[in-house]
Amino acid sequence: MRVYNPLKNSWSYEDIKLPLRTHSENLVVVPSFFDMHTHVRLNGGEDYDSLEKAAIAGGFSQVLIQPNTDPLLDTSETHALHEKLSARKKVTFYRTTSLFGKAKPDGKKILCYSTDGIPYSYRDLVNAFRSQRKALVMDHSQMHEFEGIFYEGTRTELPRKPITNEAVAIYRTVMTGVEYGFCKFHIQHVSTKPALELISFLKKTFQLTCEVTPHHLLLSNESIDTVNKKVNPPLADVKTIESLRDAVKNGVIDVLATDHAPHFTKDQDMKFAAFGTSNIEIAFSAFFTALQDLPLVVEKLSITPRKILNIPYTFDSENFVVLDLNHEFEVRSKDFFSKGKNCAMEGMKLKGRVLGTKLHGKLVYWDGEFLC
Ligand SMILES: [Zn+2]
Repeated sequence: MRVYNPLKNSWSYEDIKLPLRTHSENLVVVPSFFDMHTHVRLNGGEDYDSLEKAAIAGGFSQVLIQPNTDPLLDTSETHALHEKLSARKKVTFYRTTSLFGKAKPDGKKILCYSTDGIPYSYRDLVNAFRSQRKALVMDHSQMHEFEGIFYEGTRTELPRKPITNEAVAIYRTVMTGVEYGFCKFHIQHVSTKPALELISFLKKTFQLTCEVTPHHLLLSNESIDTVNKKVNPPLADVKTIESLRDAVKNGVIDVLATDHAPHFTKDQDMKFAAFGTSNIEIAFSAFFTALQDLPLVVEKLSITPRKILNIPYTFDSENFVVLDLNHEFEVRSKDFFSKGKNCAMEGMKLKGRVLGTKLHGKLVYWDGEFLC
């Protein structure tokens, strides 16, 4: 079996015995993935059981939960509840904690702060930077002061916001954080060209990383025809897709992250529908289809997130993912293990998929089925 080791940037052939047959001739073994941007809903929506299955089917052994759960991940009590619900799982569930709450990163399971899914003002930001422990801040960079479901240039009667909204918010967060002694920032789901240009500039001086989602690498605002394509940040124009892909290749974008945002039901009215797309199961396929570069995808889906978050990782025969790079399929979210069937890429043809996942020495998933 071909093995790609991104830690050494090397290819090898190894005798890995898989109990099941496959007819594909383009299988590759790579390290399991780490998702820096996952949502769990609880209260009848996605729970840790369904999310665990969806993550494994997507090749993820570790994920980082964002704080906009109900109730918010911002107190030690809520963190204790999540710790209990996610204990004894095959997937390790790390958590962020709200930048505006009482709980603090602990370096064990609570890895950093996040603003994701929490509308905040400049005052909130300043107050948080004045009082919080100096730690990594993940930022959903948005000027919430200005309403807008989509970006300018999108054909819609619904409220639109300037394309520069994201870059202005990134500058505000980073410079304010630096003023109050914060030194590590991670910008979530970058979606616009001005944001890429600003990040590239800020990286020269500050410790700054960023991520992009599969939907922003594959879909433009011209394709918005269902509520499943209502995402936040919104989809931009076709040219932006090229800029985002280039930024992954030239290193301005460090991480590929899913922003898996499952919704059990979504209002069918675009104005009232919740934001988000259910992604985690097809994330690898979408990234590989968009970028067509396996070492690049594996590095940014497996190695870089762990480096940024200081999660030790060794690639061995006990933990890996088997990819079938020849497999072509059409996305059908009704087949997802996730409770969220709201996939923005519904019906799209993707190439390459996760065939099997081995965790803690056991092959737990193979060809659409769980083995134990
Ligand atoms: Zn998110």
